[in-house]
Amino acid sequence: MTETATYQLLDGKRCGDALREGIAKGAAEVKAKRGRVPHLAAVLVGDDGASKTYVESKVKACESVGFRSSLIRLPGTTAEDDLLHHIEQLNKDKDLDGFIVQLPLPEHIDEEKVTLAIAPDKDVDGFHPENIGRMVLGLDCFLPATPSGIVELLRHFSIETAGKHAVVVGRSHIVGTPMSILLSRNVYPGNCTVTLAHSRTKDLASLTRQADILVAAVGKPEMITADMVKDGAVVVDVGIHRIPDASKKSGFRLVGDVKFDEVAPKCSWIAPVPGGVGPMTITSLLLNTLKAARR
Ligand code: NDP
Repeated sequence: MTETATYQLLDGKRCGDALREGIAKGAAEVKAKRGRVPHLAAVLVGDDGASKTYVESKVKACESVGFRSSLIRLPGTTAEDDLLHHIEQLNKDKDLDGFIVQLPLPEHIDEEKVTLAIAPDKDVDGFHPENIGRMVLGLDCFLPATPSGIVELLRHFSIETAGKHAVVVGRSHIVGTPMSILLSRNVYPGNCTVTLAHSRTKDLASLTRQADILVAAVGKPEMITADMVKDGAVVVDVGIHRIPDASKKSGFRLVGDVKFDEVAPKCSWIAPVPGGVGPMTITSLLLNTLKAARR
């Protein structure tokens, strides 16, 4: 029997483009008021190919909305103290509204130390404990870019969330855990009943099958299969993986944590990879930078 695909795409490119129009207007207003546009800096340590691509797309996105951007490249051999010194300088730089340090960092650098060193009022990635704590309490803060991008995606496509059972697979500090908090807040999009699953969860499929909204942030290519998804679910795929594909010029193709071809026909809405969560993460970073510039 052939299944009829009735799903709709949570199109992050379309949603991101719509939001970026407003961000560009915001940048022009900041310029008119302060005489300079919002300014974001990105620090890249080492030459990891994927990190380089992510940072470059963030810099390009800044240009597309009229922000100024600076890319600070440091060698992979940079000592932890030297990186912390750079961060101290960026914290003090009055010309800069916010900055990010692209993760992952080389193994000899303690990521926690680095995250803690970034001034909370310049932490546009929203990773500093002060911003995370304020998010939990529902206070004004910089929200972590990926989960807040997902919230904007749900808002843009008017996805109903109140009273829904959301299952988030993955509990990282930057995606899964903050996602579970944002979906449980008493605002729209939110008011979900949230289950947070991880590698110690027993019988994951029995939980994911109960999800009205399923967020996969597990970091395992195509792990979520059709038998794990309820009919009519809204599925948000955060994962992004390059897998070898000889039929592509690049030699690889991008897949998510969800086996798209077999899962999509069961969904009411699904975020594709690429073109779903990825563009929204960058849009959130721009929103946070605009917010910093307006402060
Ligand atoms: P992490 O590796 O930090 O976290 C993965 C989480 O998944 C952990 O909590 C882990 O559990 C859990 N997990 C691992 N295996 C299983 C399993 N078999 N069953 C249930 N849970 C499991 O990943 P991130 O959160 O940083 O990223 C997740 C994915 O999203 C990655 O593919 C990443 O590349 C992508 N990503 C995409 C972004 C975008 O903009 N599109 C932005 C950020 C990330 P435990 O805690 O027990 O180890």
